[in-house]
Amino acid sequence: MSIDLEALYIDLHRHPELSFQETRTAGVITRELAALGLEYVEGLGTTGVATSITGTAAGDGPVVWLRADMDGLPVAEQTGLAYASTAHGIDPAGTDVPVMHACGHDMHVTALLGALERLVATRDEWSGTVVAVFQPAEEYGAGAQAMIADGVLDRFPKPDIVLGQHLTPLPAGTIGVRPGTQMAASDGLTVRLLGRGGHGSRPHATIDPVVMAAATVMRLQTVVSREIDPREMAVVTVGSIHAGLKNNIIPAEAKLELSLRYPDDAARADVLARVERIVRAEAAASGAEEQPVITTDHSLPPTINDHEATARLTAAWNRAFGEGTVVDPGSSPEAKMSRGSPARRACRSCTGSGAGSTRSSSRMPSRAAP
Ligand SMILES: [Zn+2]
Repeated sequence: MSIDLEALYIDLHRHPELSFQETRTAGVITRELAALGLEYVEGLGTTGVATSITGTAAGDGPVVWLRADMDGLPVAEQTGLAYASTAHGIDPAGTDVPVMHACGHDMHVTALLGALERLVATRDEWSGTVVAVFQPAEEYGAGAQAMIADGVLDRFPKPDIVLGQHLTPLPAGTIGVRPGTQMAASDGLTVRLLGRGGHGSRPHATIDPVVMAAATVMRLQTVVSREIDPREMAVVTVGSIHAGLKNNIIPAEAKLELSLRYPDDAARADVLARVERIVRAEAAASGAEEQPVITTDHSLPPTINDHEATARLTAAWNRAFGEGTVVDPGSSPEAKMSRGSPARRACRSCTGSGAGSTRSSSRMPSRAAP
């Protein structure tokens, strides 16, 4: 191999970039693609890069899309590694934040470049077309859609299948994949609870959004614990709550940010309805004069792996890496690309990162990205 993949990985790890700001990362990718003699399109969906390569063996092969995400997270790295990130970035709110490849996208880029080098070297041994997609902003759940909106499905051969992978805290040397639902659907919501502000000494003259928010957060906990059949799966997380600036001033509104997960569209509609019912009911219980404002920040469909493709990949991986390599991880962007395109199939696998994984347990496959 001419690409030093370890050095490439360390370089990417040292220089993480926030979502839709992956310009350096895209530059590293295009440099390597050029060195492989591949033409590419850059700037897709802001910073995305895509390239295609056709095998020269006899026969018609499928169009296979391979996808890797590129962005880091606003997390301060505390691994103590010699190549730990010290990078900072500016988030969408204009705040200076530390940045880390805490989700493993540095490894995804490295793996896809390594795969492309092998595909180029063995071009006369396979037929069909491989399209490699380096996608921005997985963490916003918006990068795949941005590339589609920028015409990636029209500028490259349309996929028969989209294959993706993600590091996960499985034992190193294992690959997790299952037929059917691999990753849950996910929505990110912002809820603005509108009250009436005033002085803290005169609470009776206000409609206190802090109390409204507190009650809402607690009642939302009962969606999964009291309302969903225990045999079904759903997650309702309030990951952010903000209201007020000072102890003696009751603010006019409170803001909640929710992360919701479910296995399919039916469960999605069900949970969303329950969340909205509770938000509106708690506002009413507080005597709010205005309805809460609920907005969807992102919405990702479930990743449902094609059964035949999963079986073929499992057999190939066990053949290549040894029997027992492939495990069922329990239960994404590939889904979005396959859903928004003529692709009939998607398959996403998880690659074990071993102990000391940089991914948090909240990113277990049963709960989906981002
Ligand atoms: Zn990720």
